[in-house]
Amino acid sequence: MHLVVVGGGITGLTVAWELVRRGHKITLIERNVIGGLAAGFPYPGKPETFLERFYHHIFTSDQLVQQMIEQMGLGCELVWRPTLSGLIAEGQLWPMRGPIDLLRFRPLGNFVDRLWLGWALFCLRQTKNWEELDGLTCREFFFRHGAGRGYERLWLPLLQAKFADFAEQASAAFLWGRVVPRAGSRHKNQEHLGYLRGGFQKLFRVMGDSLADRGVRIILGRPVSRVVPGKTCEVVVEEESIPCDRIVWTASLSLLARLLDPGANEPLQNRLPQVPYVAVTVLILALTEPLSDYYWLNSIDPSVSFGAVIEHTNLAPPEDYGGEHIVYVVNYHLQEDPRFHGKSIEELLEYHEPSLKQIFPRYSRTKIRRLFLSQDSFASPVYHVGFGNSMPPYRGLVPGIDVCNMAQVYPFDRNMNHCIQNALNYIATCFGRG
Ligand SMILES: Cc1cc2nc3c(=O)[nH]c(=O)nc-3n(C[C@H](O)[C@H](O)[C@H](O)COP(=O)(O)OP(=O)(O)OC[C@H]3O[C@@H](n4cnc5c(N)ncnc54)[C@H](O)[C@@H]3O)c2cc1C
Repeated sequence: MHLVVVGGGITGLTVAWELVRRGHKITLIERNVIGGLAAGFPYPGKPETFLERFYHHIFTSDQLVQQMIEQMGLGCELVWRPTLSGLIAEGQLWPMRGPIDLLRFRPLGNFVDRLWLGWALFCLRQTKNWEELDGLTCREFFFRHGAGRGYERLWLPLLQAKFADFAEQASAAFLWGRVVPRAGSRHKNQEHLGYLRGGFQKLFRVMGDSLADRGVRIILGRPVSRVVPGKTCEVVVEEESIPCDRIVWTASLSLLARLLDPGANEPLQNRLPQVPYVAVTVLILALTEPLSDYYWLNSIDPSVSFGAVIEHTNLAPPEDYGGEHIVYVVNYHLQEDPRFHGKSIEELLEYHEPSLKQIFPRYSRTKIRRLFLSQDSFASPVYHVGFGNSMPPYRGLVPGIDVCNMAQVYPFDRNMNHCIQNALNYIATCFGRG
């Protein structure tokens, strides 16, 4: 069988890897570089070191990524480091290592409010079946557990930073999928996170090379411009038309809808479920000095312009980047948000500078060595209430086209590990257990 896999992110690579192992003929098409949202670019002056366009780490519970790294012969480059996470609130930094820090977190309200929030999170962790939570919004969940104030003051701003205007629609099952697996990365209130030294791009490069060695045709830097569904189907890449037995679509469904022949396939387009996505804009600063000791900081401070700050070199050593300290300044937002859409690096720096100065006394423009900008319009599906019933199926939406994408990892957040798991589930469901 000849299958065309559209998308060279971790999902497309995993699907191609498994299907070629089973003897299928595979063509993999990626419009940009291999690696998708997790891709990195060569760091200036360090051609063998890649920096992720968007910060990436793995949890100790992310077993499938670890297995893949081992399988590709890169196990010795996977490093684990203790990291510090915290919150930005009321103009200052608050460590958030576990329940004690939550109880000490004054911006949450009085001590009783903090206890109620702790209780609600305890109940969340005790929930065995996430489907019980699928019909509840996060607001409903917290209010039912007496933690309304904790929701308003902590979780709502966190959800706004993640899902922008969709925050109030986020399902409590998504919260479960985010909180429960992450607890496994904490030992005695110390979180350990993993990183592939030199960048996760190394993994994707090795996978791409191995696929090519196994006869997979890999087309990079050229977008699929049209897909023709049917019993035998066709993918059009620029001037080239590639007939095949089946297409595996790994990007968002709204991108697929745009490429199905307009007019003739109107009813097919209508069959695709509408999965809303949020966009992300990340300003990357390379500094001469660190900003803080924190790896990960979420902001719930309404006066601050960013939703999160990730200091990558508090996970990976700055020596890997010529001694420079790498900081990601992050905003998830609606796709057309005028604060970010179409803005230049300089405009974004101007936008964030007052908050950077306010929160990080060590910040100064004179310490910036380089700036990079990363944006993506399909950064994350919005896992809204009832998402369990509207998740796209792998097969059956459009004749000849299978869908395997990050909208199917629910109730978990769309990380690399869950994308690999989803790809394996897709193969097992549609091709049997090999
Ligand atoms: C800001 C941010 C931080 C993250 N942090 C982490 C983290 O710390 N740890 C973690 O595990 N995960 C993290 N993730 C999530 C992780 O990056 C994704 O889960 C994973 O990369 C998704 O892989 P995918 O292959 O499903 O989708 P994608 O990577 O989106 O791949 C889909 C591919 O399809 C391609 N495509 C789309 N249209 C076409 C077309 N017409 N023709 C050809 N190709 C096309 C796209 O270019 C893209 O490469 C993060 C994501 C973001 C945005």
